[in-house]
Amino acid sequence: MRSLSVFGATGSIGESTFDLLQRQGGRAAFRTVALTGGRNVARLAEQARALGAEVAVTAHEECLAELRAALAGSGIAAAAGTSALLEAADRPADWVMSAIVGAAGLAPGFRALAHGATLALANKESLVTAGPLLLAEAARHGARILPVDSEHSAVFQALVGEDIAAVERIIITASGGALRDWPLERLVQASVADASRHPNWSMGQRITIDSASMFNKALELIETHEYFGVAPEQIEVLVHPESIVHALVGFADGALMAHLGAPDMRHAIGYALNWPARAPLPVARLDLAALGRLSFQAPDPLRWPALRLAREVMAAGGTAGAVFNAAKEVALDSFISGQVGFMDMSGLVEATLDKMVARQSLGKAATSLDMVLQTDAEARAVARALIGQNKD
Ligand code: NAD
Ligand code: MG
Repeated sequence: MRSLSVFGATGSIGESTFDLLQRQGGRAAFRTVALTGGRNVARLAEQARALGAEVAVTAHEECLAELRAALAGSGIAAAAGTSALLEAADRPADWVMSAIVGAAGLAPGFRALAHGATLALANKESLVTAGPLLLAEAARHGARILPVDSEHSAVFQALVGEDIAAVERIIITASGGALRDWPLERLVQASVADASRHPNWSMGQRITIDSASMFNKALELIETHEYFGVAPEQIEVLVHPESIVHALVGFADGALMAHLGAPDMRHAIGYALNWPARAPLPVARLDLAALGRLSFQAPDPLRWPALRLAREVMAAGGTAGAVFNAAKEVALDSFISGQVGFMDMSGLVEATLDKMVARQSLGKAATSLDMVLQTDAEARAVARALIGQNKD
């Protein structure tokens, strides 16, 4: 029986994963090792009981008593905190879903690779902050990383049976997010609620706001570069408001292979769960005649400066990705808490990158996970200091 763990089980990707596991036989079909979550302890315990997990871990120490109480009599172990997360990741499992949001997802996924797990990677921040290290760790242990971002799963599927050397370009699509059709001059006034309404996808709040600012696509440009090993200039972003075509791969002969599907993350999660086979998935089937048309446009650089920043980060290489992601997380926290405006986020990220260049902390090769985590901490401190200065 296949064993598995889900990191970030109570989030948007985690819940979709849980749904698929239940539909594909649940505890009769899989042996669940570890499930992890945050403050929604009641839901974590419910999932752990349903799947008969060995251990359930909350990221927050102060939630441990509640988790223990919720699991009383079940025989499922309860644990809490960062070290418990890492211990859970050390428990061998054949398939591991990495669906914690942010740089916090890096270390648990990294640890899972050490026992040769197939890592279904939703946590794109892992590749952005530590792509070469992660791929090297997987290679060292004979582990496999399967992409669980809709665009990257789409590219992966378009490449089945193909030679990567014959790839001319990769195009990833973006819906444009909640504020796509707002006049440019109004964007400075966008509130958290405005930016949190995604037109097509239902996702966690952070990635939804990142879709509106295009920071999500910026991370995905870097993710594409790291995972598939193609040069930055071979990767393009197209705005596609319908979110039906997830990505296209262009080959040396001019052919373009596109992946189409309803905007439902269970496509990408299910592909990674059943790979290399395909299994029936409970996703809506497309009615292209009813859709009628699909549209595409080039992204506006003034509206979405995050895309330019991602290209600068790819050019700098090394630790630049870790700086970029950390600054983006601080900027997003500050937007959500009302400290900075929607259009200030990219300025803050750019200023952090500049400061890190001045401190000679940018672009060095990231040689260890510790170095990535230190760079992440330094960049967060720099970004926070910049916000403090801006307030004066
Ligand atoms: P979410 O906010 O809905 O859920 C995040 C999960 O991680 C929750 O279980 C939460 O408890 C846990 N978590 C949060 N902070 C943590 C921390 N510091 N330590 C440990 N656990 C923590 O997020 P999501 O939308 O499901 O996204 C998860 C990841 O998948 C992100 O990296 C995101 O970019 C990626 N992703 C999401 C979607 C989507 O449709 N939601 C699509 C593509 C990629
Ligand atoms: Mg995506």
